[in-house]
Amino acid sequence: MRAWWSAPLIIGAFAALFWLERRRPLRSAVEPKVTRTARNLTLAGISAVALQLTEAPAALGLAALVERHNLGLLKLVSLPVWLETLFGIVLLDYTLYIWHVLTHKVPFLWRFHLVHHVDLDLDASTALRFHFGELAVSVPWRVVQVIVIGVSPLSYLTWQVFMFLSILFHHSNVELPIRMERWLNRLFVTPRMHGIHHSIVHEEADSNWSSGLTIWDRLHGTLRLNVPQREITIGVPAYRKPEDVELLRILPMPFGKQRPSWQLPDKGEPRREALPMPSDNLLP
Ligand SMILES: [Zn+2]
Repeated sequence: MRAWWSAPLIIGAFAALFWLERRRPLRSAVEPKVTRTARNLTLAGISAVALQLTEAPAALGLAALVERHNLGLLKLVSLPVWLETLFGIVLLDYTLYIWHVLTHKVPFLWRFHLVHHVDLDLDASTALRFHFGELAVSVPWRVVQVIVIGVSPLSYLTWQVFMFLSILFHHSNVELPIRMERWLNRLFVTPRMHGIHHSIVHEEADSNWSSGLTIWDRLHGTLRLNVPQREITIGVPAYRKPEDVELLRILPMPFGKQRPSWQLPDKGEPRREALPMPSDNLLP
């Protein structure tokens, strides 16, 4: 029971962001946009199939079960549907924050999440390039999320659409007017904020883990807003060459020997003069 309007909404959002990225790019591109977009969409296509086969039936089937048997935290109290849906979305967002931290900190999970981070540029197509393995290994987490929180099918489907739009938006390479971005960023993850998470500087990649609401980074002290975009190099230090990130290299990447991610080929680690944290000052 997927909402019929979710596919056109997502395709429309991607097309609008693609157009805006050409008109108002936030960061200058390293690789040609057409080549990258084709590569990222191919990876996305493979992942979409993996998702349909694994997560979609597992999570939605479970959400129906949760609803039928009143399982999970949200079912302990009786809430109006709108409030239960809202809490369901907020708690899914928080537990996704925790999952994102784990994908960076647990070496086995990082092997997969690395594929998303080695992209040399960051735009809406990066939002779609997750290795199918990362999506598959996230299914058990999703199952626990749904059961423990007590997520109804309505909450789950609404969250999925919200998350998809949010991920497309904050990966996009669109230069929003700074005042607008600062205003939006009080609540939602924005392109400049997520750009810092994709930096080759390790401490910067170890910040801004939120995927929807910024409150989780604020609460955990992992929010970093004070790195100007023009100073950011996107990617992972060990994989800096265009040939390192070709499709046939990144597909087998999680399964083979990997380089120490945060070291440049000459063994140094990219650093930036320590910036104070936390900072509420979002630089252009
Ligand atoms: Zn990440």
